[in-house]
Amino acid sequence: MIDARADINPPTITAKVLVVEDEPPLAELLRYNLEAAGYTVQHAHSGEEAEVLVSEEPPDLVLLDWMLPETSGLEFCRRLRASSETRHLPIIMLTARGEESDRIRGLSIGADDYVVKPFSLPELMARVKALLRRASPERIAEELVAGEIRLDRAAHKVTRGGREVRLGPTEFRLLEFFMQSPGRVLSRSQLLDGVWGRDAFVDERTVDVHIGRLRRALIRGREKDPIRTVRGAGYVFGERST
Ligand code: CA
Repeated sequence: MIDARADINPPTITAKVLVVEDEPPLAELLRYNLEAAGYTVQHAHSGEEAEVLVSEEPPDLVLLDWMLPETSGLEFCRRLRASSETRHLPIIMLTARGEESDRIRGLSIGADDYVVKPFSLPELMARVKALLRRASPERIAEELVAGEIRLDRAAHKVTRGGREVRLGPTEFRLLEFFMQSPGRVLSRSQLLDGVWGRDAFVDERTVDVHIGRLRRALIRGREKDPIRTVRGAGYVFGERST
């Protein structure tokens, strides 16, 4: 059994940002700063490329340049809003245009926010964080809470009812992943992708092994098992949402 990431601490932020920008230096600058802030970054040079990435796995936020080679940022934004999958995907438009009418156009077709180039990086980063805080707070929260279970990302610590729960790095990431989607049934392959990464050479049974360890660490005495096995489907953490 190989767990390639076992020695790496999880980031305090798990949000994924897609940068759609055709100017390489600016794309690089954005990537560098976003990664330094703990985000996972994907980059597309065009709307077409971005569309493929989004359909594979929607990001948590899109930084979208207005002026792109083929499909304009505006048109791409419109397409994202037209699809039920991405209707609520947070979008910040980047543009050299500072005209009030453009700003209104961008916002009217569904961009959540709008930043004019050249922008200040701290300001952009603050807007990214503010938008994520509204749209998917569990992705940037320093602490995840589910009933009496608390997971502190920054301190890398888990407690249940005030008692410290000691977890290995994989069990920690597994719990973190569960706590980001409480009430949702997660299949073994979703857990593999989310916790071990898509490229990991890990058997699906490995998931069961680590869930067993996580349960044993979390449950003392008559405490309730927070993880439910859904036969033929996977696992669900916490209360059912449906
Ligand atoms: Ca451009």
